[in-house]
Parts: sequence; C-alpha cells; structure tokens
Amino acid sequence: MPKRFEYSNPADEPPRFVCQLEKLRCQHVNPKTNHHCRRYQIIGAGYCFQHLETDRHLKIAASTVPNSGLGLFAYDKKKPTGEILFKYNSRKRRGDFIIEYEGEVLSKLAGDQRYGKNNTAPYSAYLNKDFEIDSACLRASGSLANHKPRTYANARLIVTGKNVYLEATKTIRNGDEIFIDYGKDYNIGQEGDSYTHKTKNIRTHVHHATTTRGGKLSVVDLKSLLHASYDNKQHQVGDFHLDKELSSKTSKVYVNPKTGQTVVAHRGTSGFSDWLNNAVYAYGGKKAYQYTPRYKEAERVQHQAEAKYGKTKVSTIGHSQGGLQSELLGDKSKEIITLNKATRPFSNTKHTNQTDIRTEKDIVSRLNPFQKKNEKDIVIPSNKKSSYVKEHGIDTLDRLDNHMLVGNGIMFYY
Ligand SMILES: [Zn+2]
Repeated sequence: MPKRFEYSNPADEPPRFVCQLEKLRCQHVNPKTNHHCRRYQIIGAGYCFQHLETDRHLKIAASTVPNSGLGLFAYDKKKPTGEILFKYNSRKRRGDFIIEYEGEVLSKLAGDQRYGKNNTAPYSAYLNKDFEIDSACLRASGSLANHKPRTYANARLIVTGKNVYLEATKTIRNGDEIFIDYGKDYNIGQEGDSYTHKTKNIRTHVHHATTTRGGKLSVVDLKSLLHASYDNKQHQVGDFHLDKELSSKTSKVYVNPKTGQTVVAHRGTSGFSDWLNNAVYAYGGKKAYQYTPRYKEAERVQHQAEAKYGKTKVSTIGHSQGGLQSELLGDKSKEIITLNKATRPFSNTKHTNQTDIRTEKDIVSRLNPFQKKNEKDIVIPSNKKSSYVKEHGIDTLDRLDNHMLVGNGIMFYY
C-alpha cells in the first residue's frame, strides 16, 4: 500500500489536504557496470538505504528529538563513530554539500490554498517571502532533517538558481543527527499539531520550474492548453501532442506520450468575448444547452477520449463556455479545471473532482454566487482598471505563479 500524507487542523473534517507519497527509484548507478539500482524508496526518496550511506554518507533513523519521528544522520559504517564526515570552512563561510532538499516549489498563494492561510505546512521550508518548498508528498532524504535553532543546528538550506540543498554549518561527525533551523517560530509539537515556521530567512529568489509531478498541470501548461483550444493550427503544446483523429474544431484532445496524461480542452464560442454568447445557457438552462450542436460535439470528443486513453488519465479543461462544457461532461474524468466558466443564476452542478479558477471581476463566472466552492478553487485578483473582456481572458492566469500546480493530480479529496 502506498503511504499517504494527510493534513488537517482540529476543525477540518475531512482532511484539508491528502496526497499519496511518491515513490522514487534509487538514483545510484554503479560507475563500473552502469547498473542502475533497482530499489524504490518512499521515505527518503532518491536513494535506497544502502546507497544513501555509500553515496551520501547519510542514514535515516529515529530522531534523537522526542516526538519528531525520523531524522537524518551522518553515517558511514566503515568509519569509526565520531570521525568527521562533513566540514564547515569558517573563512570561506561555506560548508560541505550534504544532500538535495527536494519537493514541490509552491508560491505562497498555492501554499495557503493547500494548508490554509494561517497554518503552516509540516514539511515545508520557506525559501523566501514568495515561495516555499513542500516535501509533504515527496519525502526525499534532505527533507527529513529536523529543526534546531540556528545556534544548535549543524546545517542550513541553500537556495541557488536551480537547486535547494543542505550544507554543513559546523563539523558533522559520523553518527551525528543533522539539524537545520526552519525559522524562529518553528515549534516542535505533538503529532497533529500545526507547525509555524513562516520566517525562514533565505533571501535568494527561486526561479526554477517544478515538474508536473503526479500528472498535475502547472499554470503554464493550463494557459497554453486553453489558448490552444482556440487555435486550430497548434499541434503541439509543450509535451502534449494533438490527437488529430479525435479532436474537433471546438474540443481538442492532447496527449503527453511520456506520461500518458491526456487533456480534453473545450473552448468557448468566440474567442475572448464569448461571455456575450451564453444566452442559450443563461435563459434556457442546462437542458436547452445540451441540445446545442456545440454541446453534442463536445460530448462526442469527451467520450471518445475517455474510451481511448482511460478516464483516470483525462483532465477536462475549458475556458468560459468551454468551462461549462467541462463541468457538464468531465465528471467521469480524473479532474475538471475551468477558467471563468459560464454560470447562470442559481444553477450549476459542480463536481468533487472540479477546480474552478475565476477572476475576481469576471462577470460570466459570477452570475451564480451560491454555487458550491471547493477548497482548491482559485480566485485571481483583478486589476481595477482592466476591462471586463480582459478580465474574462485566459491571460489573467499570468497573475498566478507559473509553477503553481492546479487541479487534482496526486491529491485526493473526499
Ligand atoms: Zn540503491
């Protein structure tokens, strides 16, 4: 059984955030035989226990700090206890590299959406005021280092343009537990407590992209695919290829051959101003809308894509009226993601696998203020001077962090 991570505050029922922990293959390759280690690891992902020791001189074991679960230790069984394994050069103010600190890079907004605004993620390190790195679902070895205040810690997080890693700040000897300072408000508490370490004082900005782990779509992917839904000439979007056989002018199927992830993108009626063309839906309702040729065509494409690629691989996305189609058609697919979807007063049937993204000032998606909201819904702040047409458009996604991941992906909500 894969392990799961669940996060909840005392008042949360069901849990606020749930994911399956990722399992990664050990990255060790034997330099002589070129043989790639076959072991997989969940806790301490990245290396198996044997190669964590031989390649990194580390091991994972019960922490010496009470109630802290596992911890990360400097360890080499061939060397005597107490022998120096990692050094700090006080003149250069640099220490030895210990190990990568891996996880999902989340914007503050995405982090707040995952854990709640005033709560702090138990496996997050704050990279700077805008970004955090969350290892909740990818429990790589580096993230198992526990907290101690800076004067007692023997390592720290270093953020460069591309990497986040642990570096020694003191002499670390064989058998020592490795500690980093997660920030002055960090509390070590009982299991189930929320943690507060919002104040990591790392000033470097992070610009690197996260991968779309677990098949989640990033804001960049979403934006490009929504744009492509309006463009009949675009046969490739990033790693996604158009399935020409299934796609129609208004509903397109994109497949990532590396991951099998499939996106059905339903477009709105007439570019960015189709909010003027929602009359059938607004006055005739869902029933009338389902008789329109556009809906029928969208339905055909959706069903064919789900049959060909499998419902669990399909993300159903759409902008404006395409968002409405996604809501009406995507309930059997893995997830629905809509942007400024067409709504009408008092009537929208929202699904549990659905994420709605809307611009604060958008009229089209605001017609039904009573519809059910999901925890993962996103509101994009509006620019006061911007026009309604502009606020309805796809480029409003630019106001979100590009690397933020949206929708279900590896998350499961009940
Ligand atoms: Zn290995």
